[in-house]
Amino acid sequence: MPERFPASLQQKIEDRLRYYEDLGIRLFYTDRGPGGATLVAQEPIDSAFSPAPVHEETVLPKSMPKPVPAKVAPVAPPFPLVVPPTGPSLFETMEKVTDDTLLKIREDLGECTRCKLHRGRNKIVFGDGNPKAQLVFVGEGPGADEDAQGLPFVGRAGKLLTQMIEAMGLQRKEVYICNVVKCRPPENRAPEPDEVASCSPFLMRQIDSIHPKVIVCLGATAAKTILNTTRGISQFRGEWLEWRGHKLMATYHPAYLLRNPPAKADVWKDLQKVMAELGLRLPRKSKS
Ligand code: SF4
Repeated sequence: MPERFPASLQQKIEDRLRYYEDLGIRLFYTDRGPGGATLVAQEPIDSAFSPAPVHEETVLPKSMPKPVPAKVAPVAPPFPLVVPPTGPSLFETMEKVTDDTLLKIREDLGECTRCKLHRGRNKIVFGDGNPKAQLVFVGEGPGADEDAQGLPFVGRAGKLLTQMIEAMGLQRKEVYICNVVKCRPPENRAPEPDEVASCSPFLMRQIDSIHPKVIVCLGATAAKTILNTTRGISQFRGEWLEWRGHKLMATYHPAYLLRNPPAKADVWKDLQKVMAELGLRLPRKSKS
């Protein structure tokens, strides 16, 4: 990769490319000159992988001045239990809707055109599972399989999530699964701030309606959206947080685990904390 980015930004770009690769995207535009964009295949990247997807533009015009590296604030250990918000949360500023139901929320969403993501979608992926679940998983947004079926987490990453849920001693139908945005972003890119702002109030209503004991954020987008923080997920992954009276745990996205299987151990530790909170025990192995 050219040396025209600060190292931190270059690392984030590499992380994002790997994230896309996990989602099956291997074609990228590298240059937007007068002759149009040049389409090339993504080369494998060898350096260390970080799970946190980023929202920065992955290609900058050559005419732009070289970005100045941001000052890195010192991290004061131990990490606080509650992530300090960087501003008033989108969710916190909204009144809690009482007597709301998932059916009513889905009706209100309708054939939504509130943001530009509606243009490329096949089906709205509202959410799936138990409307009285004690445990809610929140992901980033639908992928190709989810867009085709109208159900969340049904592709490869979804199968892994199902295995994770079953390893906790639960069935998928006992939990609720949804995403920050309900329509598939083009090329599976991360949802943009205006899209998150348009769609996430419905997520808030879903959570309020279900009123789970525990929310598990799968990946950086879900965690950063709900917590309204710019901090990287690796800084608070695995820590108990609190949001609107719910216990919240952020962990890695299953798509990241497909790319980086050793991280499954970290996620399993996180899920075991969730199991303890919910009073779940590991299923006993049957004696042969
Ligand atoms: S992503 Fe959400 S806000 Fe945007 S069109 Fe789809 S349902 Fe509507």
